[in-house]
Amino acid sequence: MKKSIILTLLAVLSLSLAFASGGSEGGASRTFVTIGTGGVTGVYYPTGGAISKMVNKKYDEYGIKATVESTGGSVFNVNAIMAGDLEFGIVQSDRQYQAYNGTADWEATGKQDKLRAVFSIHPESVTLIAADDSGIETFEDLKGRVVNIGNPGSGHRGNAMDAFEAYGINPETDLTAEGLKAAESAKMLQDGRIDAFFYTVGHPNGSIKEATSGARKTHFVPIDKVDSLLAKYSYYAPSFVPVSEYPNASNTDNVPTFGVKATLCTSADVPDEVVYAITKEVFENLDEFKSLHPAFAVLTKESMLEGLSAPIHPGALKYYEEAGLK
Ligand code: GLU
Repeated sequence: MKKSIILTLLAVLSLSLAFASGGSEGGASRTFVTIGTGGVTGVYYPTGGAISKMVNKKYDEYGIKATVESTGGSVFNVNAIMAGDLEFGIVQSDRQYQAYNGTADWEATGKQDKLRAVFSIHPESVTLIAADDSGIETFEDLKGRVVNIGNPGSGHRGNAMDAFEAYGINPETDLTAEGLKAAESAKMLQDGRIDAFFYTVGHPNGSIKEATSGARKTHFVPIDKVDSLLAKYSYYAPSFVPVSEYPNASNTDNVPTFGVKATLCTSADVPDEVVYAITKEVFENLDEFKSLHPAFAVLTKESMLEGLSAPIHPGALKYYEEAGLK
């Protein structure tokens, strides 16, 4: 064999070995992690970007390179973390609880007992937005209309189903329920293809800005008959949509609804030092982290330990104990 061919083969071989072992550069080990988020116009996607920014800055110290992936949302993220396809994912607190306890979407597959909590992030409100010309003023008016309740991998689809239950509406027979991804909802509403959509999301966000800024006028619909839901499920809390964030929406006052929290989840199989590094960088630089998205304005270190129902990953716990937070 010619010398040049042998050299090329050797180069290819050493390159593939480097990737398989996580690689090394100047002796330091490299770890690649991916954070699953949601649609690009939601808050999860920029949140994943903010978390990865914090840890990637310290690449020289930790050797961790985090990247962000746009996904179908909470349910997709839990399942991808459990399958080992993602190391981290942003997950609604209600979905974290259900997955760990094997209820709702995990009733058939059972308890996801390797799911681990890292920290919680911004509050999310179950947001229902309708076109002014759709005739939907109250939740009951959804009957007979075309409504996007969300793709099966989303977190909000389950919240929409719970709201229908609270109002005694059967989405299969009383209306036309669509299963579109969140990033498509605003355009579909503006194009007149749907009358309303659900999105459990932090505010402000790009999707609702897009939905409220088009030629078709829109407004938020209250979801306020939820006492039965709040009594039945401890992960739900009263919430509201802050209308000042959306000056083009037709509402004049904040709109009552219920809500959850966004949380960062991982697997028990992800190494402690990786989870420790990410937790530490976000907590030690919280002011900088908060400046990366307006939905983070309300965050405090203490509030970021609330709403976690899966066991806290030992890597995160190590940081919380060192910082006197646990
Ligand atoms: N809460 C939504 C979900 O779990 C995603 C919201 C967002 O992307 O900000 O599917």
